[in-house]
Amino acid sequence: MTVRTRFAPSPTGFLHIGGARTALYNWLYARKHGGKFVIRVEDTDAARSTDASQSIILDGLRWLGLEWDEGPDAGGDNGPYFQSQRHEIYQAYLQKLKDSDLVYDDDGAVRFRVPDKEITVNDAICGTVTVNLKKTGSTRWDPEAKKEVEANPDIVIRRPDGSFIFHFVNVVDDIEMGITHVIRGEDHLSNTPKHIALYEAFGSDLPTFAHIPLNLNKDGSKMSKRDQGALIHEYIENGFLPAAVNNYMALLGWSSGSDRELYFSLDEILEDFDLKGVNSSNSKFDFEKCKWMNAEHIKALPADKFLQRSAPFLESEGIDPKDSRVPACLELARERAETLADITKVILPVFTDNLEYDQPSVEKVVSKDGMAEVLSTLATHLAECGDWTTDGIKASIQAAAESLDLKMGAFMFPCRVATMGSTAGADLVPMLELIGQDRVVSRIRDFKEKYLS
Ligand code: GLU
Repeated sequence: MTVRTRFAPSPTGFLHIGGARTALYNWLYARKHGGKFVIRVEDTDAARSTDASQSIILDGLRWLGLEWDEGPDAGGDNGPYFQSQRHEIYQAYLQKLKDSDLVYDDDGAVRFRVPDKEITVNDAICGTVTVNLKKTGSTRWDPEAKKEVEANPDIVIRRPDGSFIFHFVNVVDDIEMGITHVIRGEDHLSNTPKHIALYEAFGSDLPTFAHIPLNLNKDGSKMSKRDQGALIHEYIENGFLPAAVNNYMALLGWSSGSDRELYFSLDEILEDFDLKGVNSSNSKFDFEKCKWMNAEHIKALPADKFLQRSAPFLESEGIDPKDSRVPACLELARERAETLADITKVILPVFTDNLEYDQPSVEKVVSKDGMAEVLSTLATHLAECGDWTTDGIKASIQAAAESLDLKMGAFMFPCRVATMGSTAGADLVPMLELIGQDRVVSRIRDFKEKYLS
């Protein structure tokens, strides 16, 4: 049997971290077993489906590197891959149910007769769930009457307007597309008995069902699109690396059984991934952990990839990625950046003469006695430095400090604020080397002029 998995997004919003994780697990499972990964766009809700949403979702999957074997753009033998284009297939399947007398008309809608028997879902992650749809579906909660009222347990599969209901098209497509493993969010577990009833009505073999427990906020509340870290396009815009996001998502709900936390590529995850390692309890999303992981990935990124990934962020700050100082700057920023967007903040003092001074940092300098003398002595020594290398610069700062009988540290922090705008940032001396001798000296003199005269 060739494993066939699918991700079936409804294009009605953004690509959420929970959905992307579902796509990742499907991709991993298919790749692990030499199978195929299919994308099917569930766009039957014409009023809510948009092209913009579809692009955001598919672009997000491409950015993560979860390329699909069949689906939009890729094509394949089981298309069309948009439910909105599969009406005839659904009609043919409806006819099969009509021929077996398993459906009937109800005020223009079509209802599927659910069997009066226990249906058991053997879920690969969540265990077994047994339901008799005829009994459980025979009442419903009436919010106005505030009580359970009698209901028809048979499932509407086609609305009076001719459009088909999710349960029906979802099952028909999984049968038609030969899906062997339905890996999806736990929010669909309660739908699965209905889906099994439909599989049985069509005389089709059941796929393996694997429902991934939900991904909640740290406080246990449901994650919404407004929560930090919820949407994949924000990771793209904020300078995360796709490998880091995959790493974080993989471990958000799955464990290899070891305490390994860092996987630097999809291939590395693939080696360890198994559905058996998917947790049966809900996961808790921790954005700080995700940022930590991104920082670790940035540290490990080969120099050429680091430059390539950083380029759009540099350009957005007016820094030419081809500038010869850029590679050295990136190496300096590497250790301090959680995201690629942070990198430009760290190295900006090398490329701009319109430094923004952080006022609390400036206050720290100007409130200390003797700073005017410290800065002018420093500027004089640095102006005379004949060897503008890290060693030469260090020696000049040392000499300036000795001339006033002070420690080198007393010179470092005002120097940092005057040349880089704040007490934070990359290592001072290599930054001074990159900023350049004339600019360093004039920045120190201008700073003294502006704040200390
Ligand atoms: N379109 C459904 C959703 O986005 C997919 C359900 C499934 O994977 O079976 O929730």
